[in-house]
Amino acid sequence: MLGLLGQSCRQISRPWGASRAAWRSRSTNPAADVSSDQAAGGVSFPPLQTYSEEESMMREAVKKYAQERIAPFVSKMDENSTMDEEVIKSLFEQGLMGIEIDPEYNGTGSTFFASILVIEELAKVDPSVAVLCDIQNTLINTLFAELGTTAQKEQYLSRLTTDMVGSFCLSEAESGSDAFSLKTRADKHKDYYIINGSKLWISNAEHAGVFLVMANVDPSSGYKGITCFIVDRDTEGLEICKKENKLGLRASSTCPLNFDNVKVPEKNILGQIGQGYKYAIGMLNGGRIGIAAQMVGLAQGCFDNTIPYTRQRVQFGKRLFDFQGMQHQIAHVATQIEAGRLLTYNAARLKEAGRPFIKEACMAKYFTAEVATLTTSKCIEWMGGVGFTKDYPIEKYYRDCKIGTIYEGTTNVQLSTMAKLIDKEYDS
Ligand SMILES: Cc1cc2nc3c(=O)[nH]c(=O)nc-3n(C[C@H](O)[C@H](O)[C@H](O)COP(=O)(O)OP(=O)(O)OC[C@H]3O[C@@H](n4cnc5c(N)ncnc54)[C@H](O)[C@@H]3O)c2cc1C
Repeated sequence: MLGLLGQSCRQISRPWGASRAAWRSRSTNPAADVSSDQAAGGVSFPPLQTYSEEESMMREAVKKYAQERIAPFVSKMDENSTMDEEVIKSLFEQGLMGIEIDPEYNGTGSTFFASILVIEELAKVDPSVAVLCDIQNTLINTLFAELGTTAQKEQYLSRLTTDMVGSFCLSEAESGSDAFSLKTRADKHKDYYIINGSKLWISNAEHAGVFLVMANVDPSSGYKGITCFIVDRDTEGLEICKKENKLGLRASSTCPLNFDNVKVPEKNILGQIGQGYKYAIGMLNGGRIGIAAQMVGLAQGCFDNTIPYTRQRVQFGKRLFDFQGMQHQIAHVATQIEAGRLLTYNAARLKEAGRPFIKEACMAKYFTAEVATLTTSKCIEWMGGVGFTKDYPIEKYYRDCKIGTIYEGTTNVQLSTMAKLIDKEYDS
């Protein structure tokens, strides 16, 4: 696969790459692009939906790519519950699996906000493809980039940007929301560890070449023994079990994993011993903004596939769109999607600016999952009987959206985190 990713291929398929150098020398603050929005005192306050030149280019290019290279596969991938290899290959070719990673490691060298726009655009066409891209960028690559040793980055980051999928392994059968009560353990022997236990719900495991596994090296210290291990797919004793047969997001593989005396060298510890829980919390805080982007894209994609039908279909001598009862619902849903997008973009911009963003990320994930649920349900109703069939993509969006209230922290977990932070704000 690496052969297909030669220099000429990259130059052709990554239109934003050409402007990277120019873009990087400019301010990353989108305010710099908006001269007409000068407020008093010369301070610029651009609308939240203001993109840098590179962000705009990526958004447009991914929109086109998703229509041309993903859309033709969506229905079959859902039906067969399989991600097409061509789709995965093309994500790598387009530079979408290493968006924030430095070109030194074959990455695209762009920003977190650009990743959010990419995930949103992909989700408009297929939320399963979006989550593959999301996990790779917001969890796996970020963990390697922030915590990896030079040797780990050289070995893994260069592959993660070009031909290797990664999986994030935290959840277990007995530990979901209560993730840090996990039971998988790693026992030290000389200069290696032996991992025993199991993981559940591991996204992209069917295609992953590397797994970031949270295991406890010292259960007597509770969650303070949790450590992140890099485990290669072909390691003896690692079993990737039969994927789940799911309601939605069917093209995204979700598998249980078994670890039976899996031997991992000490050098495969990512970051520091006992810091795994901190790393997981940190990554998931940012990851939630990615899931919010997935939900915004999903809702918008469903809406975009529905409105033309309501403008065309005639009942009682009028277009469905012309009934006031329909118009008010459509306008309400459009407002909800817009609000969800603004929450998501705001959380992403806060994160990028290095400001506190955890509450805003939780709000974005919580709210957009609700919006996606409302939007897809309404869209089926607006389409009438045909919306309930597989002749249109609406029923798939309806099935796909439910996961937004579950993974990377359930809706209750988001609400609890927000409440904790709100409580703190009123201290003193
Ligand atoms: C398709 C899919 C993909 C996934 N991908 C991954 C992955 O790649 N890696 C990974 O590690 N995990 C992954 N997960 C796991 C996911 O993160 C968990 O399913 C999620 O954290 C919820 O855990 P649980 O399923 O055990 O539910 P539980 O924790 O049992 O929760 C069940 C219900 O109880 C509620 N609840 C639990 N505790 C509380 C509380 N304290 N207060 C109020 N309500 C509470 C929850 O909100 C929920 O409504 C995936 C899951 C799915 C379905």
